[in-house]
Amino acid sequence: MSELPHIDAILLTHAHADHLSFRSLRLLRGLSSTIPIYAPAAIARWLDREGISSARVIEAGRPVQIANITIRTAVARHVGARYGVDRWRGAAHMYLLDNGSVSVLFTGDTAITPAVTTLAESLLPRRVDVALLPIGFAPRWKEYLFRRGHLTAADALSLFEQVNARILIPFHWGTFRHVTSGAYDAIRVLRSLLEDHAKAAQVKILSPGESLLVTNAEEDVSPTR
Ligand SMILES: [Zn+2]
Ligand SMILES: [Zn+2]
Repeated sequence: MSELPHIDAILLTHAHADHLSFRSLRLLRGLSSTIPIYAPAAIARWLDREGISSARVIEAGRPVQIANITIRTAVARHVGARYGVDRWRGAAHMYLLDNGSVSVLFTGDTAITPAVTTLAESLLPRRVDVALLPIGFAPRWKEYLFRRGHLTAADALSLFEQVNARILIPFHWGTFRHVTSGAYDAIRVLRSLLEDHAKAAQVKILSPGESLLVTNAEEDVSPTR
């Protein structure tokens, strides 16, 4: 925590436990309780009821300006609710962060949806510099259902190509074991797909703790520690 830079805002995509942790929020708010936390309306209201008064609503199609960064929001194809009755958790967002020269697309959890390309095209004539896309793994019998709300490694690569971003950083792997997939299944599949892929050099697989310095100069991408 102490190594984190100053935080201007926290963006929540949806309320699944791997994307919204009250413990993490508490720790982050320990740095400053006034850090605004942007979330879909239902989730912002929920946080507010839980006593987190710095929760703010962020809506699809309504850009928000934080310092020199514009945040554009779109609706992800992912159902945040788990139990049918917990509809306040159903909303899921994706965000495009842009400071006018470098841009980052963070989709949260999503399946392939035209909303991703529409969001990326809002930057034209520039293109997205970094696409942070989730990768997941499902056994064959579960793949159809899984892909309705998530990206497999192959889906993430094809979405990366559709969006025409400069760099892909895959996330959502290496964290926990699911009933039907191990923590490293998705990244193993991605690595094997990249062995023979035209855009392999543009895919940066970062381990926990690793960082990547990205500038707006097309060729200047160097991993740092
Ligand atoms: Zn999720
Ligand atoms: Zn997730």
